[in-house]
Amino acid sequence: MPSPLTERPAPAAPTPIAPAPAAPTRPGAALGRRTRVFALPEARWAAAATLLFLLALPLQSAGAPLWSWGTLYGLAYAAGGWEPALAGLEALREKSLDVDLLMIAAALGAAAVGQAGDGALLIVIFATSGALEALAAARTADSVRSLLDLAPATATRLRAGGTEGTEGTEETVPTADLVVGDIVLVRPGERIGADGRVLDGTSEVDQATITGEPLPVVKEPGDEVFAGTLNGTGALRVEVGRDASDSVIARIVRMVEEASGTKAPTQLFIEKVEQRYSIGMVASTLAVFAVPLAFGAALTGSLLRAMTFMIVASPCAVVLATMPPLLSAIANAGRHGVLVKSAVVMERLGQVDSVALDKTGTLTEGTPHVTDVRPLPDSGMDEEELLILAAAAEHRSEHPLARAVVEAARARGLALPVAEDFTSTPGAGVTATVDGRKIAVGAPARLLSGAEDAPAAVTAELEDGGRTVVLVLADGAPAGVLGIADRLRPDAAATVASLAGLTGPAPMLVTGDRPRAAARLAAEVGITDVRAGLLPQDKVAAVRELERAGHRVLAVGDGVNDAPALAAAHVGIAMGRAGSDLALEAADVVIVRDELATVPAVVALSRRARRLVAQNLVVAAVFISGLVVWDLAGTLPLPLGVLGHEGSTVIVGLNGLRLLREAAWTRAHTESRR
Ligand code: ADP
Ligand code: MG
Repeated sequence: MPSPLTERPAPAAPTPIAPAPAAPTRPGAALGRRTRVFALPEARWAAAATLLFLLALPLQSAGAPLWSWGTLYGLAYAAGGWEPALAGLEALREKSLDVDLLMIAAALGAAAVGQAGDGALLIVIFATSGALEALAAARTADSVRSLLDLAPATATRLRAGGTEGTEGTEETVPTADLVVGDIVLVRPGERIGADGRVLDGTSEVDQATITGEPLPVVKEPGDEVFAGTLNGTGALRVEVGRDASDSVIARIVRMVEEASGTKAPTQLFIEKVEQRYSIGMVASTLAVFAVPLAFGAALTGSLLRAMTFMIVASPCAVVLATMPPLLSAIANAGRHGVLVKSAVVMERLGQVDSVALDKTGTLTEGTPHVTDVRPLPDSGMDEEELLILAAAAEHRSEHPLARAVVEAARARGLALPVAEDFTSTPGAGVTATVDGRKIAVGAPARLLSGAEDAPAAVTAELEDGGRTVVLVLADGAPAGVLGIADRLRPDAAATVASLAGLTGPAPMLVTGDRPRAAARLAAEVGITDVRAGLLPQDKVAAVRELERAGHRVLAVGDGVNDAPALAAAHVGIAMGRAGSDLALEAADVVIVRDELATVPAVVALSRRARRLVAQNLVVAAVFISGLVVWDLAGTLPLPLGVLGHEGSTVIVGLNGLRLLREAAWTRAHTESRR
């Protein structure tokens, strides 16, 4: 089935990747299986048509009676042509012209002028190339699905047991029925059925399905585990933390599905021109038929030439030029932990020419820890008091710095009082009432306008030591500072260099941290353009400023405070593992494997995809114009015309699939490092 001239209602091109799963809990039930050729009905029908054709041909040339080979040819027409004919008629009802129908018309026309064999060959080639395309589409889909290892369908739930004795009874339930708070037992070697927290047990868990990390991670009580990841040799008791439809793996599946349902701008443009083109084509076909006839040419010759014209002028290869490279690139990136949400994004990624990077959680690992607790002399507090107040206030914040503060208090075995009136300002900090005192933690100049900062001597000393300084205010007065250290990602400097190599100017650092800390880190990774002390709206303004200057900006971030900038940029990339839900939502691309170096790699991959699209369009145009000229100037035999047309369509289709190969990613990765 050469791709239709116009969008078809049936599930044909462009490659639908994953059929929406009936239940979001069991995505892509066909994991890891590669579609076999004859599993596809298209392939079975094409084989039948081929067989019938091969039976008829010798009969015809041996001079057997007409009814024998005539019947076989007729059956070959039917086997190879019924499906495209139905699809074509369906499209016609919606007032759009389908190339399938033109093919059938050409074959019937050939039969009408006594060339039944040529017509049948046309049907055979047509059906075979249709089967090849269907196979390519199915393989692309397989490859996307295989990156989503399955969340198991059932889990072992431990009954909480109101009544004595039933406590701890095990029951097997569908994972879809698990609710937040359920306790499940995960046996050694089992896949974990839900996102949640380990209550007891210790085990190494292979999280490759969602993080792409090859090495297992040790899970202990308190650690988070994810649905679809593979338990090692220990047994775990896990408290379910998220409904099945909310789990990380389910969200990834949804994202990939949504991506496969989108179309790139190039594709949309092609489809727009297509209708007009096909009408022009039919008109030209009539002219190719009628004009020579009017000048006394023979009917049979004119008809055959017109049929050939109609076939070779169809833009099948053009239609197939765009989506396979982009979808293959999406699938390949997905296998490497980079989820690109749509074909539009895959096309855009290659266009970016400047980059804005967030600091905390993006260039740094985002797992900070408190290194210094410094009460100010005037506050009359000791270290523990300061930490208790700060940690109590931070308790409900999702920010990495907040987690560090709470963790520091826990590590010292401090009991935290309950905080009230909690508020959080992204990019600034938190406030809360603790033990009747108004506590603010963060960068208070922004939290409470007019609030005093900590003495410059203290903050400068910590910042020069590479710390992020967080101020703690009690009732509006500075009570102390916390010095927080976060490790630079090991691939941060290399990534900055790669991005600079790919996009021209070195990336810009946009951070909510103070200027001094930001400048220090920027120097370490090789960034000179530093914007510090930014609120979320300031990050957006920085992106807009670049775009006004004519740049296409790639923004990379992780936090709630980055979400608006990620949405505003030409392409936004979120760091998936530590990233806040809001950032994941706002971003166009999510890095699930926590590897910054995949950012330049996916940009390079997109550029390769764009080059392939351009290449494909050239190949398609050359074939179409070459064959058309040949047909008009001389006598292009119908079967050869069909072969040329289908051949170019298949070449273009397969060319796009090259990006599915592992080598395509490796090459993009190396290319980005030059
Ligand atoms: P970045 O933009 O580099 O990712 P953020 O915008 O997340 O950093 O944070 C910027 C600054 O805001 C931090 O350096 C800190 O001073 C302050 N801040 C924001 N949220 C919090 C919080 N929950 N606790 C403490 N400080 C915070
Ligand atoms: Mg951040």
